[in-house]
Amino acid sequence: MKYLKEYRNGENIKLIAAEIQKVTTRPWTLMEICGGQTHAIAKYNLQQLLPEEIQLVHGPGCPVCVTPQEIIDRAIAIAAMPNVIFCSFGDMLRVPGSDRDLLEVKAAGGDVRIVYSPLQALNVAEQNPTKQVVFFAVGFETTATANALALSLAKQKQIDNFYALISQFLVTPAIQSICTREDCRIQGFLAAGHVCAITGYRQYRSLVKKHQIPIVITGFEPLDILEGVLRCVRQLESGRSEVENQYQRAVTKTGNTVAQDLIKQVFKVATQQWRGIGEIPASGLVLSDDYSGFNAEQTFNLPALSISENRGCISGDIMLGLKKPGDCPHFAKTCQPQQPLGAPMVSTEGACAAYYRYQNQVESNESAVSNSTNR
Ligand code: SF4
Repeated sequence: MKYLKEYRNGENIKLIAAEIQKVTTRPWTLMEICGGQTHAIAKYNLQQLLPEEIQLVHGPGCPVCVTPQEIIDRAIAIAAMPNVIFCSFGDMLRVPGSDRDLLEVKAAGGDVRIVYSPLQALNVAEQNPTKQVVFFAVGFETTATANALALSLAKQKQIDNFYALISQFLVTPAIQSICTREDCRIQGFLAAGHVCAITGYRQYRSLVKKHQIPIVITGFEPLDILEGVLRCVRQLESGRSEVENQYQRAVTKTGNTVAQDLIKQVFKVATQQWRGIGEIPASGLVLSDDYSGFNAEQTFNLPALSISENRGCISGDIMLGLKKPGDCPHFAKTCQPQQPLGAPMVSTEGACAAYYRYQNQVESNESAVSNSTNR
């Protein structure tokens, strides 16, 4: 399978891992931004291949994890309304709201449907003209493109029973925000390749210059990630800070300008609340004035919500690279995929879910690191 098999080739993986060992002389902490990369790191046990000086920490690139509790509660309130079909990606259904989740709304008779794309939700609206169909539009620039396309089509086709509950995030302001924190311990970033396929990577130049920190645009296969680490470490060891593009097979400097134009047409940039992290200026997308009629929050008369977050969940610290899932006292005990306390345990891109799913590998990693440290 082209572009998969060759990026999982064991011999090449060993060669790059050996090169990383060779060039590393000091401790470095690197953050992979995307939850998809976190899952690949756990699945392929990549931390174990790295020298003990290199620590990978996990960034805020999981859309389910960063969606604020308030939006989850609004989704639940809308989904429970009569005459509504609520369409969502599957992993949002198990994210705990203040008093229940979307799956419980479905079990209680709510018409909650799992879809695999916003276009599928738009189809549901076309096929059910007497219902109000709401799509839970969560994600980063990658999903913003598909969501913008669905909304643009809905406008063109004058589908007036289709709405979107928006929870859209932008990656670059999040990296900027992490870099400016006093407790930031990140020395290099592996940026998310699929996001950059849309945005390009020009926007990282000023960040790199301002914070003197390498950013390597990186793919999602084991070889991609190890090569991203190698490029980052080479920069750090030689005192350089540049933007490098490891994921050249998908990413160009300018990105996908058609997608960028579509996003600009449907959305406008706004301050966004990130769950566990807080408010970041200009880090979100809301519907532009031309598309305000599709706004589910404005359309539905929502009851006053009393928001209650699980204070024991340390997802914010994990997504800022300050802690790892194993540092959470609830991990794999009171918080498990079937009974999650926080979104990172249920999301397909959540760091806690990655550690839980590949737990044995991660545990053997950590004991290998601790054994070698004790020698
Ligand atoms: S293990 Fe559960 S409670 Fe702990 S940080 Fe992860 S999701 Fe939150």
